[in-house]
Amino acid sequence: MTRIVRTVAELRQHVRAWKAAGEHVALIPTMGALHDGHLSLIRLAQTKVQRTVASVFVNPKQFAPHEDFDAYPRGEARDAQLLETAGCDLLFAPSGAEMYPQGFATTINLTGVSEPLEGAARPQFFGGVATVVTKLLIQAEPDIAVFGEKDYQQLQVIRRVTRDLDLPVEIVGAPTARAEDGLALSSRNAYLSAGERAAAVALPNAMKAAIAAVRAGGRIDEAEAAGKAALAAAGFRQVDYFDFRDADDLSRLGPDALNEAKPRLLAAAWLGKTRLIDNMGF
Ligand code: AMP
Repeated sequence: MTRIVRTVAELRQHVRAWKAAGEHVALIPTMGALHDGHLSLIRLAQTKVQRTVASVFVNPKQFAPHEDFDAYPRGEARDAQLLETAGCDLLFAPSGAEMYPQGFATTINLTGVSEPLEGAARPQFFGGVATVVTKLLIQAEPDIAVFGEKDYQQLQVIRRVTRDLDLPVEIVGAPTARAEDGLALSSRNAYLSAGERAAAVALPNAMKAAIAAVRAGGRIDEAEAAGKAALAAAGFRQVDYFDFRDADDLSRLGPDALNEAKPRLLAAAWLGKTRLIDNMGF
């Protein structure tokens, strides 16, 4: 079985022993409710290093009071089983008190890449993410840490924090794992009813159509408007954003994305009570 440790001291003991034996170590941070997207990160890590550590911690600091912290799906036995099957060496599953002991008072605050899109829709989100990921990187002392492009802005935020704070770790981005119909795998897909799950495919489809339209010479603003209209027609009740952005700093693009260095389309939209996010490169 994949070994489970719950304290930073035990985590470091394992990682330091591996490093002393000349092995390299990857950390794959998650909030659990593992699916094949998470396991694809572990498989990618295994192509780069000898040892993989997954963390499972549902981080209260990245949820606003009205968000789904209590309802977020949890199941450690199932997660541990999946990690075992994937050949993951260690599961770090700390308690809330281990991560945020009494009196905890430090938060990582960023500007820039954290501000638009998810940052605008969820003001405390990236502060919470940056704080917990920085802690995990300091706790685990990995050589590399793998994050999914599924959460593209999060990946760019973590790259920024790592550079800004000189954290001695290489951040690796992994491609988005998708269901057969194209919907990005997500723990939150478990919230969707059967009807909503069927409608959800409109999100990747609208994104592919928007990219095709811009590639064919269409205007960015028109492709964004058509994408939003397609989502409304498919039953999405609100679109938080459906934006072409610069792939590095997520700033807005000029009217002709194909002349920009690296465009990326990012979207977030509500299907009933579930908020889905996705993004695609050209
Ligand atoms: P989460 O537990 O959902 O916060 O995600 C933990 C890590 O898994 C993050 O780096 C996510 O970007 C990544 N991840 C989640 N879903 C996918 C997916 N469908 N494909 C690739 N990576 C994913």
